[in-house]
Amino acid sequence: MNDIETLKSVIRDIPDFPKEGIIFKDITPLLANADALKKTIDTLKERYAGKGITKVVGIEARGFIFASALAYALGAGTVLVRKPGKLPYKTFKQSYTLEYGTDAVEIHQDAFEPGQKIVILDDVLATGGTIAATINLIQNNFDVEIVEVAFLIELDFLKGREKIKDLPVHSLMHF
Ligand code: AMP
Repeated sequence: MNDIETLKSVIRDIPDFPKEGIIFKDITPLLANADALKKTIDTLKERYAGKGITKVVGIEARGFIFASALAYALGAGTVLVRKPGKLPYKTFKQSYTLEYGTDAVEIHQDAFEPGQKIVILDDVLATGGTIAATINLIQNNFDVEIVEVAFLIELDFLKGREKIKDLPVHSLMHF
């Protein structure tokens, strides 16, 4: 098995979680596996080292874990994108449409300096709704360069990538 196949082998499928018909990609076995966790962060670090990245953005909640580890590895900072009402300081907000109803993401108003180069990282790219809202949130409020949008896992059949226009997208694992 190559490295990526080895990483894929530690992702656990949980059928019908959190609701019927969803196959949930459980990343906790990867987090608990020292070699797999190190391989994941090292692989991302190799991709982004030397590119002048100063902030890694993590999306609530599992994105935080990987974004902070990658930021540490790169010598960068971490910025949190959270569900409404969780961030303590002044925020910008972006709403987005779900299958039923709407949701929103928020970011602190002082998250970036103008001109900073950033990477956005989340655990799973599914339908792409969350990442599209996150990109709008950042592009509408800050003058920063999104170098790439990265995921541990991309669910190819959901075509979430089509919602990320005009930005490079990279996923370590495809299912
Ligand atoms: P979406 O907006 O549909 O791309 O979904 C994005 C968020 O939902 C990601 O942050 C994931 O953490 C979570 N998510 C969606 N589908 C799955 C899945 N099948 N397995 C694990 N997490 C998922």
